[in-house]
Amino acid sequence: MEDIKDLEGLEIFLWYACNVRCVFCYQKDLRFKYKNNLTQSEVETLLRDGFEQWKRFVIFAWGEPTLDKNLPHYISFAKSQWYKHIRIHTNWFRLKDTSYVSDLYERWLTGVIFSFHWYGKLHDDITQSPSSFANLDAAIRNVDDIISQDTTFVLDVNTVLYKWNYRELLKLFLYLGKFKITRCQLNYCSSLELFTNSEKKDLMVEYKDSLPYIKKILYISKKIKLKVVIDNIPYCVIEETYYPFIKDNIKNDRVSHLVTWEKRDDYAATYDSVQTETCKDCIFSGKCMWIPRDYYELFWDSCLKTLHV
Ligand code: SF4
Repeated sequence: MEDIKDLEGLEIFLWYACNVRCVFCYQKDLRFKYKNNLTQSEVETLLRDGFEQWKRFVIFAWGEPTLDKNLPHYISFAKSQWYKHIRIHTNWFRLKDTSYVSDLYERWLTGVIFSFHWYGKLHDDITQSPSSFANLDAAIRNVDDIISQDTTFVLDVNTVLYKWNYRELLKLFLYLGKFKITRCQLNYCSSLELFTNSEKKDLMVEYKDSLPYIKKILYISKKIKLKVVIDNIPYCVIEETYYPFIKDNIKNDRVSHLVTWEKRDDYAATYDSVQTETCKDCIFSGKCMWIPRDYYELFWDSCLKTLHV
């Protein structure tokens, strides 16, 4: 199976609308402020221009792309433009409907990225949506059925590690190990620009507290052959054995269009991080995204102690 990591691509954020309310969602309440989505002609233009610029994959994302009734058309349109990989980043909700998943697949959907943040009812608390884990379980089984017949279909999972869930995440990864998952991405909670410092303190966890749990997840995942990558965490805070789990992460190797009502940016340009004095001579300089700014501002004293390069 070809990895999109080696290709240039587009990530198109269709709108802010979403049907769940994850407590750490970095778009916070923007869904109430910006209600418009990209129009059909805007999305078609992005796809046409993208292909001319050698983009060969597209991911439809943000808030929840399956709420956009045009999504099936966009998948067909991307196929007609010869995109090799067409994926969606979704909170699953509509994918519990077998006929909806089959329709997207028939139109040339080649993979999904599911957001899974905890196991069981606790996931419902994080998303502030009753039955969300049960629906997610049905959705992942629908996708698993597709993969049983088409092993090229990609199932990625995205999990945000934050203060409420880091001690319990192993249970989630053991559950995920039952499915034909291509890659689990563990994202360290950050980029909370819209949150107050006190809200951030309730959500973000220090590296020194979470690292023992992260290591255990990585150790067990390797044993059960579940591929895990971690994101938003610098190399210097973990042991060398775990560097490959960062090196293989999937961000920053694609050009993404962050499209909102008021602006368009490359996604990577929106990542705000701090380069310390130590970073300047670090062997990872150039590969590392440094320390997320909001993490650095909250925990600067303890995060500096972890640097060991
Ligand atoms: S570049 Fe900076 S943040 Fe990244 S690994 Fe090196 S010292 Fe750590």
